[in-house]
Amino acid sequence: MSSDLRDLYQEVVVDHSRHPRNFRKIDRPDQTVQGFNPLCGDKLTLYVKFNDQVIEDISFEGSGCAISKASASMMTATTKGKTKAEAEELFRQFHTLITEGPDGPVKREQLGKLAALGGVSEFPARVKCASLAWHTLRSALEGKGEAVSTE
Ligand code: ZN
Repeated sequence: MSSDLRDLYQEVVVDHSRHPRNFRKIDRPDQTVQGFNPLCGDKLTLYVKFNDQVIEDISFEGSGCAISKASASMMTATTKGKTKAEAEELFRQFHTLITEGPDGPVKREQLGKLAALGGVSEFPARVKCASLAWHTLRSALEGKGEAVSTE
C-alpha cells in the first residue's frame, strides 16, 4: 500500500474517533444491546430502530479506544438505511478483511471507508476493538437483546 493511502486511512479513523457519527441515544429503540471488549476495556451501547427489514435508525454511546469508537461510528454510518441482510453481508466482508488482511478474499475497494480499519489485521488484539460494534449489531439483528462480549 502506498503511504498516501495509508495516511488517508489513518485520517478517516482519526476523524471518526474524534467526531463519532450517530453518537447519541435513540428514543424508544427496538433493540438496545451492550457490547464489551474486556481485553481493551471498550464498552458500547447500541440502539437500533427497525422499519420491517430496514435499519431505520442506529446509534451508539460508550467509551473505548480510538479504533473501537471509529469502528462503531463507521458501522452506524454505513448500515443506516440498509436491510438486515445487507448489514449481515457487510459484517461478513468486514470481518474477513480485518482477520485475513488485504491479501484475503475481500478487497478493500469493496468496503469503501470501512476499509480504513483493514490495517488492524496486523494487530490481532485490535481486531476485537474493530469488530466489537459489529458483533453487537449482529446481536441486535438477531433480536435477542443479549449483551455481547468479545471474550
Ligand atoms: Zn479497543
